[in-house]
Amino acid sequence: MSAVLIDGKARAAALRAEVATGVAALVAAHGRAPGLTVVLVGDDPASAVYVGSKGKATREAGMISGEYRLPADTSEADLLALVATLNADPAVDGILVQMPLPKHMDSDRVIAAIDPAKDVDGLHPINTGLLVSGRDGLVPCTPSGCMLLIKEALGNIAGAEAVVIGRSILVGKPMAALLTNASATVTVAHSRTRDLAGHVARADIVVAAVGIPGMVKGEWIKPGACVIDVGINRIALPDGKTHLVGDVDFDGAVGRAGWITPVPGGVGPMTIACLLANTLKAASARAAG
Ligand code: NAP
Repeated sequence: MSAVLIDGKARAAALRAEVATGVAALVAAHGRAPGLTVVLVGDDPASAVYVGSKGKATREAGMISGEYRLPADTSEADLLALVATLNADPAVDGILVQMPLPKHMDSDRVIAAIDPAKDVDGLHPINTGLLVSGRDGLVPCTPSGCMLLIKEALGNIAGAEAVVIGRSILVGKPMAALLTNASATVTVAHSRTRDLAGHVARADIVVAAVGIPGMVKGEWIKPGACVIDVGINRIALPDGKTHLVGDVDFDGAVGRAGWITPVPGGVGPMTIACLLANTLKAASARAAG
């Protein structure tokens, strides 16, 4: 048996098309396109690539893309002042401060300064609280995208056993909250978890968000499980080139799982699509007053 490959690229394209339709409707009703502004501090090449692709996707969806690229030695006070300006700007519906920030900045303080209604990354403590309470808010984009893929594969997941590996504020914790809200029975595993293989073996749904290439072994997977691989790890090849692999041993898992996301082409494309969806949601809420 070979798992069904979950096509994140196709699902993301469909979501982006839905967002573009929603944007056109908002423009028709309110005469204004949603605006997403991304702030990048420093010159981390990977972050610069992400910011570039976010800007392109924003424009393709018919939204207005704003971008600030600040030098690495920008003071935290200057960044907070920019966030305050963007909070007050009526043309800005979504604000995303690209992480990680340089070490001299306190990212918690910066995230907390963003207006929760414009926090399209869903990381503000108010949005975290809304998510954990099962109330409507802005949800972090990567777990949101994973949830769409899980629901498309499995439909109703009430009562399913889910194991989330990783407990970051960006992926693991919000993922666990989303699965709990959908009535799955959720185990959150992390670096101190004993017998990870035993937990994974029980799971109907496995979400791996660790950052260690191939750490989830194929033989751990329960036959027929839905495996969502969030990991993006760049591996050097002997010929000097690099390639991307996930946190799951794909070749080992594909023969046991029922559904599996490839890396690349699984979760990755969903993240930007969900960012656009969050921006439209924020703009619609603001337009409705
Ligand atoms: P992170 O903040 O580094 O968190 C990693 C988590 O993995 C931590 O909770 C850590 O546990 C846990 N962990 C580490 N070693 C472990 C082990 N041996 N067994 C079990 N758990 C272990 O990373 P992140 O931001 O959540 O990202 C995780 C991965 O997803 C990375 O590869 C990242 O590049 C990728 N990612 C992809 C997207 C996308 O769009 N596809 C978006 C975001 C992230 P402790 O808490 O105990 O340290």
